[in-house]
Amino acid sequence: MTNPAGRLGTPLSPSATKVMLLGAGELGKEVIIAFQRLGVEVVAVDRYAGAPGHQVAHRSHAIDMSDPVALRAVIDQEQPDYVVPEIEAIATGVLADVEADGVAVVVPTARATQLTMNREGIRRLAAEELGLPTSPYEFAGTRDELAAAAERIGYPCIVKPVMSSSGKGQSTVHGADDVDAAWDYAMAGGRVNSGRVIVEGFVRFDYEITQLTVRALGSDGETGTWFCEPIGHLQDAGDYIESWQPQAMTPAALAGARDVAQRITAALGGRGVFGVELFVAGDDVYFSEVSPRPHDTGLVTLATQRQSEFELHARAVLGLPVDTTQLFAGASAVVYGGVDAVGIAFEGVADALSVPETDLRLFGKPESFARRRMGVAVATGPDVDVARDRARTAASRVRPVR
Ligand code: AMP
Repeated sequence: MTNPAGRLGTPLSPSATKVMLLGAGELGKEVIIAFQRLGVEVVAVDRYAGAPGHQVAHRSHAIDMSDPVALRAVIDQEQPDYVVPEIEAIATGVLADVEADGVAVVVPTARATQLTMNREGIRRLAAEELGLPTSPYEFAGTRDELAAAAERIGYPCIVKPVMSSSGKGQSTVHGADDVDAAWDYAMAGGRVNSGRVIVEGFVRFDYEITQLTVRALGSDGETGTWFCEPIGHLQDAGDYIESWQPQAMTPAALAGARDVAQRITAALGGRGVFGVELFVAGDDVYFSEVSPRPHDTGLVTLATQRQSEFELHARAVLGLPVDTTQLFAGASAVVYGGVDAVGIAFEGVADALSVPETDLRLFGKPESFARRRMGVAVATGPDVDVARDRARTAASRVRPVR
C-alpha cells in the first residue's frame, strides 16, 4: 500500500491515492465527489459511457463489470489503492483475487461483496451463523420446490430471485394458485437467472428502516462501529420513493436495531458504510438485507448530517475519523423521469428550490425512463413531518420534459 491511513497524495501525480469506483450511478457520483474533495484520484467504471459518476471522476471506463477478464484488465491498467464496489452485479471472483494478491484493498471486503450479492449467502450468514431474527424463509430451485416451500412457510409469503435487488422479480403469493406466476416472474426478473428463489414469510412490520452503520478506524487505531440515526422509508414496487431521518423508535427497538447492525457488519468486516435494512414491529427487529456500501434511502443524509453517508464512506475507506452526528431532521423524495427520452430537461427547478430548506440533486443520467430515478429533493425542517412535506413538494415541482 503506497498510501497508509492518514496519508493522502496529490491526484494525477506519482504520490496519488487512487480509488476505483465499480458502479458510477447517483450514489457512486456522491462518493466520488467526497473523494475528490480530499484530493483523491478517482477512476469511475460503469456499464455505459456518461454515467453520473463518470462526469465527476478523473478518468472513466465503460465495461461489463460482470465479465471477469474485462474487470481484471481495468484494475491492472489503473492500479488503484482501493476498489469500491457501488453495485452488486460484479465478477466478485476477481475482487477476491485482487484482495488475496494484495493488488488493492476491496471495500469493505471481497467476501462481503460476494455474500451480499446473493440473498442466500447473506440470509444464511445472518440467520444460521449469527442467529439474527429474520422472517421465516426457505430456498427453492424448481417450481415444485417453491410450491412445497410456500405451503410450509404459509400465506401470504414473498418470493424473490436470490440474485436481485430493488424488488425486481419479487411478488407476494397469497395462496397455492399464485405459485406458478411467482416462479415465472422470479425467473424473468432476476439480475442473472440463477434458477433459485427465496421464499420469505410476510413480516407485518409497523415500519422499516435503514440503519446506516460505519466501520472505521478509531483514534486508538482499531476498527470501531458508528451508527447514524435511523432512516425511515417508503417503498413502492421495491423502489424507495421517500426517506426521512430520524425515524422515531422505542428505545428497545433502537437498541435491537443497533445490535443486529453491529453483528452483521462485524461479520462482513472491512471498513466503510453499510446500509442495514430492518423491519420493526413493536420492540421486535427483523434483519432483511444489508448493502456493504451507501444506501439509496441514505440520500437524505446529504441534508441532515454533518457528514453525509458518502463522506462517511470516503473517510472510512481512507482510514480517517468519522462523525455520524445528525444536525437536522430531514427527508428525501425521488424525482422520476416520467418520460422515456434521451437528454431530457427539467422545468420548475426554481419553483422547487423556493421551498424553504430544500436542495436538489439532478443526477445527469443521459437517458430517462418513466420509472428511472433521475434526481432527488432533500429538505430539512423542525421535524420529520415538515421536512417530508417540503421534500415531496419540491420533488413534485420538478417537471422532466423531452
Ligand atoms: P427487498 O428487495 O428484499 O429489499 O424488498 C423490497 C421491499 O419489499 C422491502 O423494503 C419491504 O417493503 C418489502 N418486503 C420484502 N421482504 C418482505 C417480507 N418478508 N415481509 C414483508 N415485506 C417485505
